[in-house]
Amino acid sequence: MTEPLHELGEPRRFAGGISIRVLRAGWFRPDAGGFFGVVPKPLWSKNVETDARGRILCRLNLLLIEAGGKRILVETGTGVRMTDRDREIKGVEGGDPVEALRAVGEDPDTIDFVVLSHLHYDHAGGMLDASGRPSFPNARYVVQRDEAEAAHGDELRLAGIMEVEQLDAVRAAGILAEVNGEVELVPGVSVLRTGGHTRGSQAVLIGLERPGGRAGDPTDRAIFWGDLIPTRWQLPVRWTSAYDDYPIDAVEIRRELVTRAAAEGWWCYFTHDPGPMPIRIEATEKGSFRAAE
Ligand SMILES: [Zn+2]
Repeated sequence: MTEPLHELGEPRRFAGGISIRVLRAGWFRPDAGGFFGVVPKPLWSKNVETDARGRILCRLNLLLIEAGGKRILVETGTGVRMTDRDREIKGVEGGDPVEALRAVGEDPDTIDFVVLSHLHYDHAGGMLDASGRPSFPNARYVVQRDEAEAAHGDELRLAGIMEVEQLDAVRAAGILAEVNGEVELVPGVSVLRTGGHTRGSQAVLIGLERPGGRAGDPTDRAIFWGDLIPTRWQLPVRWTSAYDDYPIDAVEIRRELVTRAAAEGWWCYFTHDPGPMPIRIEATEKGSFRAAE
């Protein structure tokens, strides 16, 4: 593998003095059958190859957003609390958000907000460090209330799947911010509950609406999809993963947001895409969607 384990991309600027950089925090290898769910292999295998164990090579992408004098980290990767066996099965390399930030010269103690798209291991596993303390002690951790409740629910499907211990430790430290629906963290940066992938999955929306803004102001908008759309390969909105807990909801909310994103030229950031980002998306002649050239 020639690409570095940890890498911080060039900043892209948005209205309101907002900048976004992609922080590559390592690799993992989800099972392709699970990742593509209902989609037949002859279709998805045009996009990506599998390894000898039927897994695909994906990135653990975090975002580092600077806005309104605040620093926002989106996602925490796998962290360092997985067992060796689990890391081996899932093909995790790296995954520690603190190590990733330090490797690119950024101080984890300067993070003001940590946004968790949802509470699966590859997004919320790095809420705590190896000693069980919050990895970002000066930050507020932003989670949808529905997601926190689902993590504490009694649904058998979710048993052992959500990072409940890490959630509770962050809550006990007094730095958990449970939010509900669409909430602006700082001007121009909002979280939006989408559900679909998990009950309380959230996306991040970036960019101010600036009708009548000064000529030359950037007016672009951006979205970080979380696992609602983990890579550009899953832009056909009906390509539902086996990991989507609410597939019918996932398809509907994907259709609504992807239609807007294509029509309005939103820049898209994907949590597991190994390719260059951000990208724009476009509608196809057949009424589906794909990455714009
Ligand atoms: Zn994921």
